[in-house]
Amino acid sequence: MTQTNYSALTTTPNLVVANWKMHGNFKQNAALLGDYIEKLSSLKRTQVVVCAPYPYLAQLQNKLQSSNIAWGAQNVAKNEFGAFTGEVSAAMLRDFGCTYVIIGHSERATAYCESDDNIACKFVQAQKHGLTPILCVGETLLEREAGVMELVVGKQLDAIINLHDAAVFATAVISYEPIWAIGTGLAATPEQAKSMHLFIRNKIASLNIDAAHQLKILYGGSVNPQNALQLCAVENIDGGLIGKCSLNAEEFSAICHAAEASAV
Ligand code: PEP
Repeated sequence: MTQTNYSALTTTPNLVVANWKMHGNFKQNAALLGDYIEKLSSLKRTQVVVCAPYPYLAQLQNKLQSSNIAWGAQNVAKNEFGAFTGEVSAAMLRDFGCTYVIIGHSERATAYCESDDNIACKFVQAQKHGLTPILCVGETLLEREAGVMELVVGKQLDAIINLHDAAVFATAVISYEPIWAIGTGLAATPEQAKSMHLFIRNKIASLNIDAAHQLKILYGGSVNPQNALQLCAVENIDGGLIGKCSLNAEEFSAICHAAEASAV
């Protein structure tokens, strides 16, 4: 496949997404959001998004609605509405002002047997209701060691492409999250990330050049204030999905400012 440099075509601003996972409570969230607002208000070229557990979406809406920070959820139902106990629909997320939703995070895929088909349905539900899906893709350590990481990620993308069309990526975010890097303290090297991000951009470009230009590709997996600048400077990395460090306002702010520094 032709190796094309898309860095000049990727639109700014960069995107940094906080994935709080199942952490927080009203009091802690209030303090953390207050610190986020203060430390991130000067960002001009970086959009920050906070993805919190469902019960706190109203709190996010209340606290963030007059800030430069957007918010979203960590999952969404694959169905529109109906007898699906415990599920939360895309329309419900919109009721709380969400504009983004994480889809297919490996922690859900592993612990809740999320299939590629389910993920594809969730993706379409999100877009149908005006949410930007943040689709997580990535390989296990075994798959990387076997050298099949591009096959694995390609198949994860095909699940969306085959059901819909590559055009859907024009208004979506893909987060490359090597599973071995999530929560382990062992981030991908800039070279590993560069190669996979180029593979993803080229795959979408081979099907729909406009979508490839508009698509944002984030890197997620043990991003911290020490490695953020180097990772954000990598070609085709348009920001990050941040787990652990998003729970600490100092660390998260340092990562967001590193993304800002690399946004052109
Ligand atoms: C994540 O939750 O997707 C993630 C990347 O977590 P961490 O930053 O803790 O590795």
